[in-house]
Formats: sequence, C-alpha cells, structure tokens
Amino acid sequence: MSIGLFCPKCGSILAPKEGPRSVKMTCTKCNFISKDKEDIKIQEKGEKVKKIEILDKDPMTTYPKTDEECAKCSNRKAYFWTVQTRAGDEAETRFFECTKCKHRWREYC
Ligand SMILES: [Zn+2]
Ligand SMILES: [Zn+2]
Repeated sequence: MSIGLFCPKCGSILAPKEGPRSVKMTCTKCNFISKDKEDIKIQEKGEKVKKIEILDKDPMTTYPKTDEECAKCSNRKAYFWTVQTRAGDEAETRFFECTKCKHRWREYC
C-alpha cells in the first residue's frame, strides 16, 4: 500500500473510483473525494493560454511582404497591410512591420 491512500478526514483507506475524466480516490466511510478535479482545470487553462499565443502570431506570418526599408535596422523586408481609417472617402493607410526587428510604421498618403 502506497502513501496517500488514507482519508485525511477520518483515516479510512481510500478506494479508487473511476469518474468520467479521471480516477478519483474516494473514502468509503465519509465520502471524502480527493481533489484531482482542480488539477484538471489548471491543465485546461494552460492549454487555452498556449492556443491564444499561437493565434496571436499566426496572422502576422500570413501578411504579404514588401521591399520597404526599415528606418531602424535598414532591413529591406517588411510585412504590410492596409487599414481603412474612416469609412467612405478617405484613402487606406498602409502599415508596415519590419520582418527583422518588428519595428512598425505607417505610410502617409
Ligand atoms: Zn473518510
Ligand atoms: Zn527593422
């Protein structure tokens, strides 16, 4: 018998009980249930954070590249995208991001 299989409440031997997501240790005497449910929640949170990080990076890599020169590091490759600042008659503004140092700037028309 390994350590940790005794109920912290009444000292009875805990029995493994299979749940829908994991095996929990339960006390047959006082119905104490071990807290591995919380561990599962933490793991799920970690996975969500990772997914968000990947999503944040992906749009930038899909932007087209252009031969615009970076004012900071003189790198001659930059991603670019256009943003319509106001709906209607105003022209689009071009934004650039240096592929090397991530410096961002905009092109004024
Ligand atoms: Zn107990
Ligand atoms: Zn640069």
